[in-house]
Amino acid sequence: LRLSAKPNGDWRKEVLAFLYRLRDGGTLTDWNQVAFLFRSVKGDKAVSLANYLEGNGIPVYSPRSNQFMDREEIRLMIGALIFLFPQFPDVRKWADDAHLDIWDYYDQRCFNPFVSELRKPEHARMLAWAKKLAKRHMSLGKNTDYAFAGLFYEMLQFPLFSHYLTEEAMKGVDKGRAARNLAAFSSLLTKFEYLHFVNVLNPEYLDRNLQNLFNQFFRFLGDGGINEYEDDYEYAPSGCVSFLTIHQSKGLEFPVVVVGSMEATPRKQHTELDEILEQNYLSRPPFEPLEQTKFFDFRRLYYTAFSRAQNLLVLACQEKEGRGATPTKYFRDLFSSLPSWREPAFRPEAIPFELVREINLKREYSFTSHITLFETCAEQYRFFKELEFAPVRVGAMMFGTLVHQTIEDIHKAVLRGEEHKVTPEQIDTWFSVNYAMLSKKDRVYLAPQTQEAARKQVRRYVEREGGDWGRLREAEVEISLVKNDYILKGSVDLIRGENDTVEVVDFKTEKKPDLEKERERMKQYRRQLEVYAHLVEERTGQKVSKMHLYYTGESDGNPYVSFTKDHGSIKKTIAAFDDIVSRIETGDYSMPSRPAKICPECDMHHYCDQKSWKYRNEGN
Ligand code: SF4
Repeated sequence: LRLSAKPNGDWRKEVLAFLYRLRDGGTLTDWNQVAFLFRSVKGDKAVSLANYLEGNGIPVYSPRSNQFMDREEIRLMIGALIFLFPQFPDVRKWADDAHLDIWDYYDQRCFNPFVSELRKPEHARMLAWAKKLAKRHMSLGKNTDYAFAGLFYEMLQFPLFSHYLTEEAMKGVDKGRAARNLAAFSSLLTKFEYLHFVNVLNPEYLDRNLQNLFNQFFRFLGDGGINEYEDDYEYAPSGCVSFLTIHQSKGLEFPVVVVGSMEATPRKQHTELDEILEQNYLSRPPFEPLEQTKFFDFRRLYYTAFSRAQNLLVLACQEKEGRGATPTKYFRDLFSSLPSWREPAFRPEAIPFELVREINLKREYSFTSHITLFETCAEQYRFFKELEFAPVRVGAMMFGTLVHQTIEDIHKAVLRGEEHKVTPEQIDTWFSVNYAMLSKKDRVYLAPQTQEAARKQVRRYVEREGGDWGRLREAEVEISLVKNDYILKGSVDLIRGENDTVEVVDFKTEKKPDLEKERERMKQYRRQLEVYAHLVEERTGQKVSKMHLYYTGESDGNPYVSFTKDHGSIKKTIAAFDDIVSRIETGDYSMPSRPAKICPECDMHHYCDQKSWKYRNEGN
């Protein structure tokens, strides 16, 4: 079909009327059956159409359209950060007449809207809070105990931002885009702080930090473009029409495809370097004459676009005459030969539109990084796993990782048949290399005595084994099992055994606890081992006879805590695992109460303290 508006008309109105016609025809049941394809979704035309449709109640899903910095939640957050540092307008200038384009964005699109919001009576609490802090930052006398990311998390408590984060907001057609954008923003701030060694606000460095953050970091990110959240598990979210580039649409199909970009002409895509390479270094004849390539590329591109349609293909444009005539001569004949959607012969009710094919990609879940976290605090799971907020300080697990990795080096050497390499000197070398790598990566350092304690744990393990590595089967085994609704994953530290049975071992780098007092924790570990046993049996067919925890921190007594395998108990554990996965997948993050012990250390506590909780009934 052809869809267009004459030069004095507005094609956006035509598009809207066309979409309504499709919907009212009754056979189009979800907006996600319609995709708009453009050469670029960042162009004025595509953006203006997207805004127009959204303004008229048709949500647009446009991955990678580079609107991150334009989003309200991001502009308000940047505006808020600027408000908190009143010295910013002076600090940002390196000379009296200095100017950066992004300052206009900061002032007009971030700061001003934030201030107008702040003036509203419902934000009085935030205003009082922000004024106090701004005053403090203006004449900072000593170090604070927070930096930019800390301020960000504190601001999430106020309704101006907290309303983006509710469970309901995540269930909207855009899957909580604003919440996900704020999460991405948290990750940018923590990255900035990591790169610039900012842990706190320091009077001496504050001006420089502000310059780096606003004049460079955000500016470069804004120029380069920041992608918004994309749900890899759903390429055409229900309730939205999609706006995609033709390139992005490769391999996808939609019942209705509207191709814009009728103003396009063939463009040379290759560089001089390609020409030199092809003419001088290609050992076979050129695939096609180089001077023709741009025309062929053009056809290939639009072949891709046109062939995405399952039921209906529409070519659409705002017609234009004279210079930059649209459609261009490359489309003109084709375009004018098509029937207009306005013709009475077009009857969408007669077209049985396909439904968008579901991509049945399964998500991966593991006991330690998903289930335990969810059980500890489902809200924390929602923020840090599902929405992917970045914590201000990642808890340092250096000690445990160091011991784990060095033990892994030992096991791997044995499994390679290099048992003779497991000498005290070599262990020291592995240990030092691991320490150097980890401390560089995490910027965490251990005092010499602590390093020595970690080294001792490794040595003691080796001594206890007494060179008897004969039963070692596999180390650091990543196992995954495809279940009906998800993929169950686990990483088993050690599998050892003889004949047909094996045992799984998980290392804990602490002293063996009092088993009575730590009954709950032991139950948790047992379930973890049961998941591993289930994985090993299902994936490898080997029978697991026992499951062990090995405490490398135990110096005198027996370092093991062993469990015999109980089929019934494993079944229960896996059923509970299934339940939690199904709650995660359906977005049920309700909890019976807040985990009081861990809240004070959690970055979300400002938000959670203000949230009006609806607790889950224990009986549920
Ligand atoms: S503050 Fe407490 S309730 Fe809120 S996410 Fe963190 S741990 Fe969970």
